[in-house]
Amino acid sequence: MTKPFIVFGAPLIGREEIDEVVATLESGWIGTGPRVAAFERAFAEYKGTSSEHMAAVNSCTAALHIAMIAAGLEPGDEVITTPLTFCATVNAIIHAGATPVLADIDPATMNIDPREIASRITPRTRALLPVHFAGRPCAMDAIMAIAERHGLKVIEDCAHAIETEYHGCKAGTFGHFGCFSFYVTKNVVTGEGGMVYARNEGDIGRVKILALHGMSKDAWHRFSDKGYKHYQVVECGFKYNMMDIQAAIGLHQLARVEHNWLRRQEIWNRYQEAFFDLPVTRPADPEPDTRHAYHLYTILIDKERCGIARDDFLDLMTRAGIGVGVHYLSIPEHPYYQKRFGWQAEAWPNAMRVGRSTVSLPLSARLNEDDVQRIIDAVRGVF
Ligand SMILES: *Cc1c(COP(=O)(O)O)cnc(C)c1O
Repeated sequence: MTKPFIVFGAPLIGREEIDEVVATLESGWIGTGPRVAAFERAFAEYKGTSSEHMAAVNSCTAALHIAMIAAGLEPGDEVITTPLTFCATVNAIIHAGATPVLADIDPATMNIDPREIASRITPRTRALLPVHFAGRPCAMDAIMAIAERHGLKVIEDCAHAIETEYHGCKAGTFGHFGCFSFYVTKNVVTGEGGMVYARNEGDIGRVKILALHGMSKDAWHRFSDKGYKHYQVVECGFKYNMMDIQAAIGLHQLARVEHNWLRRQEIWNRYQEAFFDLPVTRPADPEPDTRHAYHLYTILIDKERCGIARDDFLDLMTRAGIGVGVHYLSIPEHPYYQKRFGWQAEAWPNAMRVGRSTVSLPLSARLNEDDVQRIIDAVRGVF
């Protein structure tokens, strides 16, 4: 009998999530409401802060977009980010009206290299947008020092980094804004969903207004039992609010975040040991005094060393019934950015090399021992 296909990034959904979604549907209040507010409080507590600093939205892309507007970015302002990220990071900069500038990664950590950031600063630089790749924290000491020296805003893309910590501080709370994702493959899922952390409470007020059509604060209350409240449109906002149906899932996902983190750490360590003698490049171990979120386990398949091309390796894994991912083909490999900004991948050689050789193996807390062994056997079977 053939074993079922292991879907890459399949989330672990419990009975509690299902029951809470049903209860939400039956409650008659399925849009933004009390469960979203409870999810903001729970997430704030997890991050060691209060809900006055959190705004739930419907994606991390939305979170990044309105965080940058709230940061006061204007046309012509430059935002420095990494070429090894999901396209949403760069698209959000463009949608906010700013200009993305790429700074190459450190090939060991795969995170943006602070020395590369320093070399890309111009008089028009207004913000830094580090991405904690795979859940490994960026070098935030150096990044914050650059930001302070040049008076820059810092917006962290924490799509991989819900559990990440660096030198005793939680990812997303270093700079002015932190943006989180609850997309189906992420460490906490709500289907689609995101969260904005803002250090400044006033900024969260602006984010909430931007996320709901630009309507004055907490406009969702207008249909509650407190009586109808008139709202005023105070700017041209977006439709980025999270629904209670999504928060219903998130509340129970968040309650299990540490449990799932431990399971992914276990799988990550199993892979590290199982592949030690293979010609693949394994991820660096987490650095001291940091906490890795273990969002992705990525290996590099270098054709010279491995005797197989990355894309052929992807095909073999798929044929063995194992879903794999690529995080990511570097941003300047895509035609849109090449056309719009004249970028060529060779200008960011570290990100280009990683992007052309990287493979992500399944790392969901949903994987059982049999799944993990099948994945290990499939990878070892290739060599
Ligand atoms: C997933 C992801 C995003 C976008 O998150 P959504 O919630 O799907 O909008 C942004 N940045 C990175 C690095 C991601 O991995």
